[in-house]
Amino acid sequence: MKGEKVISAKNPGWTKLDLFCKGLRLDPSCDLEADARPIQRTRAGLGSGLEMILPDDVWVNAPVVEAFAENSPYCLHREDGKYILKHDGEARFEVSLPARPAFYAQRTSSGKLMSQIGVLQGTYLGIYPTKMCYYWTLSPRQNCKFCSVGLNLGREEALEKSVDDVLETVLAARRDAGITFVHFNTGYQKGDTYLDDLEPFIRAVHDRTGLLIGVQTPAHPDLKRYDELKKMGVNNISFCFELFDENRLREVCPGKSEYVGLKRYLDAIEYCARSFDTTNGEIIAGLESPASTLEAIDWITGVGAVPTVCVFRPLAGTDYENVPPPKAEDMAPIFAASYRRCMERGLPIGIAPNIKVSMVMLPEEGRYFLENPKEYRLKRMKLNAMKKAFGLYFNSRLKMG
Ligand code: SF4
Repeated sequence: MKGEKVISAKNPGWTKLDLFCKGLRLDPSCDLEADARPIQRTRAGLGSGLEMILPDDVWVNAPVVEAFAENSPYCLHREDGKYILKHDGEARFEVSLPARPAFYAQRTSSGKLMSQIGVLQGTYLGIYPTKMCYYWTLSPRQNCKFCSVGLNLGREEALEKSVDDVLETVLAARRDAGITFVHFNTGYQKGDTYLDDLEPFIRAVHDRTGLLIGVQTPAHPDLKRYDELKKMGVNNISFCFELFDENRLREVCPGKSEYVGLKRYLDAIEYCARSFDTTNGEIIAGLESPASTLEAIDWITGVGAVPTVCVFRPLAGTDYENVPPPKAEDMAPIFAASYRRCMERGLPIGIAPNIKVSMVMLPEEGRYFLENPKEYRLKRMKLNAMKKAFGLYFNSRLKMG
């Protein structure tokens, strides 16, 4: 199998992927209450696991509450105050657990717990500020079958979030956790109002903080709205079209397929890739054939966008909770191919300052799946230089206060 040589106990990228696919057990010696971020299911639910940092600063959100994790060969132990990740009983890595941020226990001036307004995912703050995705409200429901938004909002996350709630939480997260990036996410709203709903939040965060802003919403039919978002200060825009195979899209995401459709997503990605700092096309691997996922990656990179490839996680309580997760061996060549396409097309991956993502493999983490780790050395040096320049620019535009 291509990519087989990378399957190594010492490869943190491989371990991250394998944890996504197999999950993690927790030895009773672990004291997560004292040492870790709370396990909190938010938004579409991928953040349902334990946040850990593997060697080489590879962040992973390891599934622990889903049924498949009960049979995982991976187990986390606490020994002499250190956390050790074991595989079949053998120590693989010492890992660190990011601490529970102080702001999670704080309340906004309207009295809401900040942990119910925004959640740290890796090193950035994720916020779902608008109302429930329309597909969850239909009868019968037409939600994406892997999604848990309808199970979280109002329970793990506050249903109503004001601009002040969000702004106060962002400022607290910057103070306590040094975030550089705020990511807004919405589901579908009837009448395509999701950008109208989101814009006051974007304006407030941009004008008061200067932080990098990412937006993930369904594809809007009026592409000129993206010119407005760009003027508002949005840096990154991402579109989750999930599956490239339209028949599978119809089965897995009935609402998305009917109310927006693949073509509108692709048109929006192509349009935005021409003007935004980065545009992402987000897909799920493990719910369609690997060939179709690879076709999607070719298409995304071909228009100048960056692929975000999520590994399917059968979240507890969702329609797909009993569907098995994919095998890491089948996923590794997909991440290698994604990295190759990005490097071959000179896409700006990994240049934003201090953004570590735990829920998905970062495009630049695809390098862990190359047989020759030195491949693309010159291109990587160029990206490092871009990263330094971008870091200087970012620091100069930050607004403190
Ligand atoms: S569009 Fe799909 S994944 Fe997104 S919130 Fe709605 S049901 Fe969930």
